[in-house]
Amino acid sequence: MTKISEIYHTKSSPVLSFEIFPPKKESGITSLYQTLDEVNPQKMGVDYISVTYGAGGSGDNTMTRDLAQYIQTHFGVTALHHLTGVNQTPESLRHNLAKIKQAGIENILALRGDLPDSDYVNADYPYAKDLICDIKQASTFNIGAAIYPEGHVDNPITGISVAGIKEKIASGTDFLISQFFFENDVYYHMQEALKNNYIKVPVSAGVMPIISKAQVERMTYMIGSSLPARLVKMIHKYENNSDDLKKAGIEYALEQIQDLLDHGVDGIHLYAMNRPNVLKSMLPIINQEIASKHF
Ligand code: FAD
Repeated sequence: MTKISEIYHTKSSPVLSFEIFPPKKESGITSLYQTLDEVNPQKMGVDYISVTYGAGGSGDNTMTRDLAQYIQTHFGVTALHHLTGVNQTPESLRHNLAKIKQAGIENILALRGDLPDSDYVNADYPYAKDLICDIKQASTFNIGAAIYPEGHVDNPITGISVAGIKEKIASGTDFLISQFFFENDVYYHMQEALKNNYIKVPVSAGVMPIISKAQVERMTYMIGSSLPARLVKMIHKYENNSDDLKKAGIEYALEQIQDLLDHGVDGIHLYAMNRPNVLKSMLPIINQEIASKHF
């Protein structure tokens, strides 16, 4: 399959991607395959699909790999295999990379992963840059990394860490995907900071459609993102009507995307929480938007 950085460099319009996560139990894999069948990503103009790995630092990498392989063989769509360093040793990394390669996957999103507790340090891979460096040296994988427009939740400084991004790029990062955000200005400030520092690596803007109040509360706490007043009011208005909240959440995300496309983003990455209906309603509209802009 294609290396993702090539997609960014050859496609004239913004790159379209979304994230999925493996089910908690093996038995859930069939219904996830059905979800993907319903979405029909190739027909929907999706350039790549990313598959998360062991959220919370634990986890079963076999399902990530199986899912990534299925995406490529069944749909002919490029897969991005997430991989965290938090529980890796150089030996486990070598083993994992060999298996991922064997499965025909060429793209890895290299992350530190969330720490099991704040004192935990993996001396082999304390930061994502260390994992990126070893992957780059040992293989030909195309490597993506995370970028945080509002700063990482563990870091008291708000806004992106230009030094941190430079380290990731120096270690071998080929493209970046942003954490989701609900206020586009934070993304535009980040774009400006990257431009001022001559950072030209392609970046996809992460957008998460809000589908429930509980989801917003959990996610914004986990990542420390800010909620604009308009969004808070929207959640209040529809908090007792889940269908209307979902509809309004999708509309909000589509407005965000329209504005991001107007600001010349390299790509849009949807965090659609394995919800086929959300993807099915958003992807055609995003494609229409992209087509109407004549990139
Ligand atoms: P890093 O870039 O290493 O940053 C971690 C912290 O260390 C930050 O606070 C940073 O400021 C600080 N730091 C970095 N370098 C240095 C340095 N040299 N000196 C001092 N401090 C430093 N998690 C999962 O478990 N599975 C997934 O599949 C997954 N997918 C994700 C996908 C995306 C697009 C994003 C944005 C996040 C994802 N995460 C996932 C969450 C991610 O693992 C956590 O946010 C994690 O806490 C940080 O990962 P990182 O790769 O950004 O780490």
